[in-house]
Amino acid sequence: MDELVVDPATNESISVTLTDPEVFDCPICYESLSSPVFQCENGHIACSSCCTKIMNKCPSCCLPIGYNRCRAIEKVLESIKVKCQNTRYGCKETTSFSKKLDHAKTCHHAPCSCPMADCNFVGSCTQFYKHFRDEHENSSVQFQHNKVFQITLNVDDTSLFLQEEKDGVVFILNNRIGCLANSISVCCIAPSTNERFYYEIVAKYARSIITFQSYTENIQSRIDNQPSSDILPLPAGSFGHSRQLKLKICIRHHG
Ligand SMILES: [Zn+2]
Ligand SMILES: [Zn+2]
Ligand SMILES: [Zn+2]
Ligand SMILES: [Zn+2]
Repeated sequence: MDELVVDPATNESISVTLTDPEVFDCPICYESLSSPVFQCENGHIACSSCCTKIMNKCPSCCLPIGYNRCRAIEKVLESIKVKCQNTRYGCKETTSFSKKLDHAKTCHHAPCSCPMADCNFVGSCTQFYKHFRDEHENSSVQFQHNKVFQITLNVDDTSLFLQEEKDGVVFILNNRIGCLANSISVCCIAPSTNERFYYEIVAKYARSIITFQSYTENIQSRIDNQPSSDILPLPAGSFGHSRQLKLKICIRHHG
């Protein structure tokens, strides 16, 4: 159920509870309706892009559609203000109904889930960074932006957690174990529209030095943690007899 606020001409708002949130979706494509909305002579409605797709023939009654606007529903759509779906994670944004999805795609309060096994915490990234510091500080490497730090990676560690000291931003260094090589990449736990960080990894083993530069991918939960195309392949032999490898890492703000 969506909670809505309607602003009639009186400038007063009344709260409305919508028991069927789909009532404002186009019955053909199921996208949220926005002006212009069209209706056939029998009052069936369709969004403007659907009118083109169905070649102006109403799918319910075959009468022409796409010539008469449904001004009543357009007025209702304009007057409705919807709270962001991330209100409970601290978003104060209220948008018109038709802009609801646009905002959701760029909302900085989109929830992030804690990637630690057995932890069910979900919150905005700011809430999550605080949670991570309070609850998992001992399971992560603390570092500072723009400063090179060193970590020791065991050949079979699947991930290492990194937390920036000042901003609290949490990164995962993924280590995908393969037969011939391990693949390393760094993700940032943040909504997809948040900034990308630039990172550099230097691996030294035997007489080789590998330098790798890329941008972090943003993920909101461990489930999103799909293999990235930007990976640093480390030959299985690079871990040596100790089965460990020291990596020098630097993570910077982009630009
Ligand atoms: Zn449609
Ligand atoms: Zn019709
Ligand atoms: Zn929002
Ligand atoms: Zn947690």
